[in-house]
Amino acid sequence: MRYVEHVSELVGNTPLVRLTRITEGLDATILAKVEYVNPGGSVKDRIALRMIEAAEASGALRPGGTIVEPTSGNTGVGLALVAQRKGYRCVFVCPDKVSQDKRDVLRAYGAEVVVTPTSVAPDSPDSYYSVSDRLVREIPGAWKPDQYSNPNGPASHFASTGPEIWADTDGRITHFVAGVGTGGTITGTGRYLREVSLPRPDADGGVVQIVGADPEGSVYSGGTGRPYLVEGVGEDFWPSAYDPEVPHDVIAVTDAESFEMTRRLAHEEALLVGGSSGMAVVAALRVAERLQREDPEAAARAVIVVLLPDGGRGYLSKVFDDAWMRSYGFLPAASGVTVGEVLR
Ligand code: PMP
Repeated sequence: MRYVEHVSELVGNTPLVRLTRITEGLDATILAKVEYVNPGGSVKDRIALRMIEAAEASGALRPGGTIVEPTSGNTGVGLALVAQRKGYRCVFVCPDKVSQDKRDVLRAYGAEVVVTPTSVAPDSPDSYYSVSDRLVREIPGAWKPDQYSNPNGPASHFASTGPEIWADTDGRITHFVAGVGTGGTITGTGRYLREVSLPRPDADGGVVQIVGADPEGSVYSGGTGRPYLVEGVGEDFWPSAYDPEVPHDVIAVTDAESFEMTRRLAHEEALLVGGSSGMAVVAALRVAERLQREDPEAAARAVIVVLLPDGGRGYLSKVFDDAWMRSYGFLPAASGVTVGEVLR
């Protein structure tokens, strides 16, 4: 019989899927690393597992302890599913702008969700930050993973995501492209791929080129943190989980480009993924196009791996909703389909 004792054992070892339709006309091989097949539905399962195991090892998290983290999404799901197996209580703090659906997912896994008002100053006692700090202080045995500063975030990618990609491409990867949120994915995976490819002779492409993808306006691509709509990526500060020395380049992508590509991935590649995946793919295509223009021989040899962080189910009322898209000007006109068009 082949089975695991718990879903948390299924974290990682995600597949590479070649993109074939949206890459038409490009000579490079573009492979998507599909992270929604993780048991919690996103790349964040990897860091949750590693952060919890490291905290157990250091004694920061003890039997019966409570995990407190300000998170509304993927990291919460990852922490909740690992915590459930190990018997920890989870308390997540979410601003009230976070959709009811997302809070319900966390509660479904058995987590407690504290909702804070969005419309208060960061130093108010009711703010997202103040409330989570107070809970950590006042709950006995509380531990806060803090994904923005926890070195085990990048370390989990150095230990798993990077080696998986290197092995699955037989060491032929030439470029790695990923969106930047906390920076953990690009820092850990990028560091591994740079190190492992360092001795590679030039004929094989030299050191793997690491390329970040960032929403236009965010700090990583030179902005100030201006608001954008794509979720999970971009920042208005520099988290310590991000090492700016790792990426060779960071490409800025607009919301309109990210969302259009996200819809195309579902429509043309049967990959129902979130907006940050569309953003990363836009950047990967730009890398391939540039290479083809400047060095066609290198383009033909190139193996570009782009990481898709999560699935699209959580965004049905946004990216995949025509009315929502139109309300921001991302879709030109009403696109209802008439009977006549269906029968044409
Ligand atoms: N996309 C989504 C949907 C995410 O939740 C995250 C994590 N914030 C990222 C991309 C970026 O990953 P990282 O934090 O490792 O930079």
